Amino acid sequence: MILYNQLINQIRDLLPACSNSFKYKKSVLKQGDKNSILLLKDTAYELGGSQKPCISTMAVTSTISFDNSTYLYGKDIPEIKEDTAYGKIVFLEIEDIDEDTAFDKIKELELVRYNYCPDGFMTRASALSMREQLRVSKKAVKKKISFADLGRSLINEYLKNPIVKSVQIIFITQFDKFDELLMLADKIKSTTSALNHILDNILFDCSTCNLKEICDEVEGMKELHMKKAKS
Ligand code: SF4
Repeated sequence: MILYNQLINQIRDLLPACSNSFKYKKSVLKQGDKNSILLLKDTAYELGGSQKPCISTMAVTSTISFDNSTYLYGKDIPEIKEDTAYGKIVFLEIEDIDEDTAFDKIKELELVRYNYCPDGFMTRASALSMREQLRVSKKAVKKKISFADLGRSLINEYLKNPIVKSVQIIFITQFDKFDELLMLADKIKSTTSALNHILDNILFDCSTCNLKEICDEVEGMKELHMKKAKS
């Protein structure tokens, strides 16, 4: 799986060098109840709330290894006092999966963002807008839970999937290039949609296809469709 490599590298190039990184170790956070609601009266603030910039994206590859670390750009959870911008980027190194099952496996990995949330937090995610707001409880702030803790718990969760070999989680609460990041996250989403269409056996005719723009950019996409069309 190399379809997302270019976009992974573009995101890495967009981000400045990071001095705040945390190595993986076993998470101490407890999983929260999937359906539990964090009421406003118990909320300290919402990352991505109050219409602040907010992006969540995930990209997979089978040719780049990650260091199972969490990176943080901006203030950490205990230092934040109000709704603030929020970005969450997940990079996953996965086994070289069969193309026919690639879309389903990627979707399964994407489900982690909806199914997993540690106790003291509540995720409000939208696949359409790529927003993922995170409500942080007063209790979590009081306990000084940090992005290092949150990242470790997420890495732990992703590594439970047998196809995942390594992970990198990047949290952002301060960044002046959210718009550029949003464009790249949008291309990741379009790449996954194009993959789905290709596997759905749409006709191989680039001149009339509405996915041409993304296929022109993503290395390997046309070759994949050509291969599928011949099989
Ligand atoms: S390779 Fe061509 S036909 Fe296939 S999805 Fe991309 S643009 Fe469309």
